[in-house]
Amino acid sequence: MSHDRSTCLFCKIADGEIPSSRVYEDDEFVAFRDIRPAAQTHVLVIPRRHISTLSDCGENDAPLLGRMFVLVARLAKELGVAYTGGESGFRTVVNTGPGGGQEVYHLHAHLLAGPRPWLRMG
Ligand code: 5GP
Ligand code: ZN
Repeated sequence: MSHDRSTCLFCKIADGEIPSSRVYEDDEFVAFRDIRPAAQTHVLVIPRRHISTLSDCGENDAPLLGRMFVLVARLAKELGVAYTGGESGFRTVVNTGPGGGQEVYHLHAHLLAGPRPWLRMG
């Protein structure tokens, strides 16, 4: 598993070198559908900047992390799964390191929603 930008799968997806089903992009973030969805809605939100894990983030990354989570909430709304007071809602997961089950070492937030049971992540 690569920890290096030059061979990083999600950097290649962000750069468009590897195709993905994009749901959003701007100067700072890209969001695309998980290739192996664990739920009806399963989107990954990544920063374009290569950061390997959440454990590599410090105080300087707080604004980026804040914008990333606000984007998750915005995409949940656009995808029709935001919490609006009824039974709706979604789960946001950031796996970190082998102990956290991280498979791809480019920071990403999972956005999961839809009817249970989900195939992974509970
Ligand atoms: P992690 O376990 O690192 O938190 O999650 C990595 C996620 O990336 C997994 O859910 C996996 O299905 C997804 N994934 C792995 N390779 C690709 C790919 O080439 N394209 C897309 N769209 N998703 C991928
Ligand atoms: Zn990367």
